[in-house]
Amino acid sequence: MLLDVLNLQTSLVLTYLLLFNFLVESEHEAATSNGSAGPLGIAIVGAGIGGVTAAIGLRRNGHILYEKSPLANEFGAAVGLYPNGTGILRAWGIFAETFGANSMSRFVEYARDGSVLREFPEPNWTCWKHPSQLVYRVALHEGLKQIATSPDGPGTPAKLFTSSKVVAVNPEQGTVTLENGTVATADVVVGADGVYSTTRKYICDTQLVSSGQAAFRFMIPRSTAEADPVTAPLVKNLINTMSSWSGGDRWLVMYPCNDNQLLNFACIHPGSESHAVQSDEWNKQASLDQVLKVYDEFDPSVKAFLAKADPSTIKVWQLMDMDKPPTWVSGKLALLGDAAHPFTPRKHWTGAVKAIEDAAALSVVLPPSTPHSQICERLKLYESIRYERAHKIQHASRMTGQDRVDGKPEVDSELKYHHH
Ligand SMILES: Cc1cc2nc3c(=O)[nH]c(=O)nc-3n(C[C@H](O)[C@H](O)[C@H](O)COP(=O)(O)OP(=O)(O)OC[C@H]3O[C@@H](n4cnc5c(N)ncnc54)[C@H](O)[C@@H]3O)c2cc1C
Repeated sequence: MLLDVLNLQTSLVLTYLLLFNFLVESEHEAATSNGSAGPLGIAIVGAGIGGVTAAIGLRRNGHILYEKSPLANEFGAAVGLYPNGTGILRAWGIFAETFGANSMSRFVEYARDGSVLREFPEPNWTCWKHPSQLVYRVALHEGLKQIATSPDGPGTPAKLFTSSKVVAVNPEQGTVTLENGTVATADVVVGADGVYSTTRKYICDTQLVSSGQAAFRFMIPRSTAEADPVTAPLVKNLINTMSSWSGGDRWLVMYPCNDNQLLNFACIHPGSESHAVQSDEWNKQASLDQVLKVYDEFDPSVKAFLAKADPSTIKVWQLMDMDKPPTWVSGKLALLGDAAHPFTPRKHWTGAVKAIEDAAALSVVLPPSTPHSQICERLKLYESIRYERAHKIQHASRMTGQDRVDGKPEVDSELKYHHH
């Protein structure tokens, strides 16, 4: 059986990926190929970070790619890219610093009164072969999208169809049905449609559950914080640094991005206090009053930071969780990224990197020579490479995100670093 023969481990996957950096010219306009071997027609549902990264990986292997997504106005705050993610991107010649990423070389955890609880100094972060970076999500997404769809570069550029909501999938036939009734057929369908995935419903009936937590998100210019004597000393100390302030059932995480010029805030708190609703929209408006009330007992310097948020830019969303689905694959359909394993980004947000890992693994198991007869088995191989690791990290993320309650034994927060 293919799974036994190849028995790929994640580390080998990356080497294998580099070997299959083919250039394939193709005139295919349909989403299926005609021959018995590749290039394959691949329809990717969802052009978030996971979908566009899969497109980059798969175009290098010479497949024809179709992205179907309603990408309207991209927004979003910052995302952390850790060594396993930056390593994959670098293997493809993509350096996130060209999208304004700054490095993350330090992590400081404060209590709500401003005292330092712990600090992970530079050596802990620089022992990896590749850097940890903090990047403005919009810039990263736009950069990756350009690379996936550009006529320059290896393989066949991905075709991106925006405002094309997928409403149904037939995993056996490899068809996707759009909202306007159009039906497209592909050799492989990738469900990269995020936490509120439609494609997942065609594989399993695993349901999302609320984590009970919500997150306010906003950014403030570094210069604004530097101009205030209350916040200036902290800002000075936080170049290339991720920081968090914890107080019982609420935290806030702050880190710079965009060459350290923007300060990104994610403020995690009981959802009941901000009335966040369960929604696949990422732009639910929140008010500054709500934010200040939730963090009322935090140090004045923290509140001075929060008060600088432009009220029109403060968003709130509920954090969703999900049990592991029994499988990520059915017939010609495979899930990827948040659709397969949503992370509760409480303290530590690894969703983007995990989606990048999935995308790399998928592009390895579908090389240009893929016989059509092996597609389903190869998708199962992808699942077997990724399933245990992704769900182990999902579990670790839940554990390290638990509330810091007095007297309760603390979860080893090093866990999160070991499992990046
Ligand atoms: C707008 C936005 C802002 C975000 N902001 C942050 C942030 O600030 N910090 C952070 O850590 N993480 C953020 N995330 C989440 C983070 O990007 C993901 O956790 C991670 O990158 C995994 O990506 P993904 O591709 O699996 O899912 P996502 O990034 O959620 O992408 C899924 C994509 O699928 C599309 N889609 C959904 N349903 C359909 C459908 N039926 N048909 C076609 N397309 C569909 C969506 O429009 C979206 O573009 C954000 C996600 C989004 C979509």
